[in-house]
Amino acid sequence: MQTRLAPRIKQSRHAEAIETILRKCVHCGFCNATCPTYQLLGDELDGPRGRIYQMKQYFEGEPANAEMLGHLDRCLTCRACETTCPSGVHYSQLLEIGKELIEVELPRARLDRLRRAAIVRFINSGWLFTACIRLGQAFAWMLPAALRHSVPARQPALARSNGSHARKVLMLAGCVQPTLAPNTNISAVNLLNQLGIEVIEPTGKLCCGAAAMHTSEPDYALRQVKHTIDSWWPYIEDGVEAIVVTATGCGVSVRDYGNLLADDPEYAQKGKTVSSLYRDLVEVVEAHSDQIEVSDAADKRVAVHTPCTMQHGLGLGNRVERLLAGAGYRICRVEEAHLCCGSAGTYSMLQPALAMQLQHNKIRALSVDQPDIVATANIGCQLHLAQGNSTAVVHWIELL
Ligand code: SF4
Ligand code: SF4
Repeated sequence: MQTRLAPRIKQSRHAEAIETILRKCVHCGFCNATCPTYQLLGDELDGPRGRIYQMKQYFEGEPANAEMLGHLDRCLTCRACETTCPSGVHYSQLLEIGKELIEVELPRARLDRLRRAAIVRFINSGWLFTACIRLGQAFAWMLPAALRHSVPARQPALARSNGSHARKVLMLAGCVQPTLAPNTNISAVNLLNQLGIEVIEPTGKLCCGAAAMHTSEPDYALRQVKHTIDSWWPYIEDGVEAIVVTATGCGVSVRDYGNLLADDPEYAQKGKTVSSLYRDLVEVVEAHSDQIEVSDAADKRVAVHTPCTMQHGLGLGNRVERLLAGAGYRICRVEEAHLCCGSAGTYSMLQPALAMQLQHNKIRALSVDQPDIVATANIGCQLHLAQGNSTAVVHWIELL
């Protein structure tokens, strides 16, 4: 695509990236075929090609307007379009840049900014988040039905065993996962310990920064990212072999620290190091698949929901199915597995109507073979799919 950037965009630090990405797009529209919002809304402007076109017009000098921002906000950043695109257009980077620049020119309404700030601070608040969830769990019977479904039942925590081993990895606890699904990381620690790998989980409020990024608070996100790197750094200097993340939504952010901090004189090298050490849990576990046995696996039929962050973001599609099948589980069919479930970070809170439609479609797609259990790899998808679903939804590590 030919581009003629407006002078104000040419002066921005993003000018080169914008030109490179726009030039790759040949406007073929293949990406629309796999875009969940285009499928639901049938509007070209709510598909990737249309969003790219609107951003191009803005970069070339058209003033930003609320309607344009609305089309960009409805994007799930699921990146299915990137997997489909034959030209390798880095759509998600363009969207991030587009929203950042547009929001400077066209600040969001005060109420919208307050709502976004409140969501991310609540998620990151630690004790306040845990206290509210525990209250919700204890008095669930008093809550209105809509709210009751969004508070998962309290999970009794498993015993944790973590010995000292020569092989050591860092693990990110995450913001909401320890409260809502503590057994994900405990199961990961227990299995890695059995495989001769010690897990170090530094304490304190460590966040990957994704929630703040999703709610248009890049400065807040950067502070979180730097704090997390600082907390990890002594262990990295001590020689941990990897940074393991059990939630793919957080993992895709951690893997991108090298790019995110590339222009930061103090953190650029550290960001690169963290990105190079990043591993999804499945990558660590599958290297030991011959040591893993689950005695009653053959009795269970499992439908695997591979999060967008895993298949489109990290390029690790089918890896969980392969691992669970190797352990003996019977794997069920999942229709249209490339489509997002609607959770998408904070999307389900910011765009609830679309998120619920996608959730409904995904639960139907996961149910074709009537599985006994649904396994996924991201806390957001796990909670979103568990709402209104009669089949239990777990992190896949709990099955091993
Ligand atoms: S993003 Fe890729 S698939 Fe979509 S219109 Fe551009 S070149 Fe075609
Ligand atoms: S990231 Fe997902 S929702 Fe957004 S344009 Fe691409 S396919 Fe559509």
